[in-house]
Amino acid sequence: MKKCSRFKHCGFIKKYEETGLYNNLIELYCKGKKNKYCKRRKFNKEKGYSPDDNMLPNGKKGKLK
Ligand code: SF4
Repeated sequence: MKKCSRFKHCGFIKKYEETGLYNNLIELYCKGKKNKYCKRRKFNKEKGYSPDDNMLPNGKKGKLK
């Protein structure tokens, strides 16, 4: 599947991709079929700015500070 259109600019990706902590979420949301359900995308669309880098695509809080 195609990567999310926000992939290159996404703070969550910048913060976590290299860590490998959330590979499952990245596969599912950022490169997969749950893309349209990403809470970060929703946040951005509704508020017009990006959520905190620590917000996961499922809306939960990430492990790192
Ligand atoms: S976290 Fe959401 S906005 Fe960021 S790349 Fe993944 S699907 Fe796109």
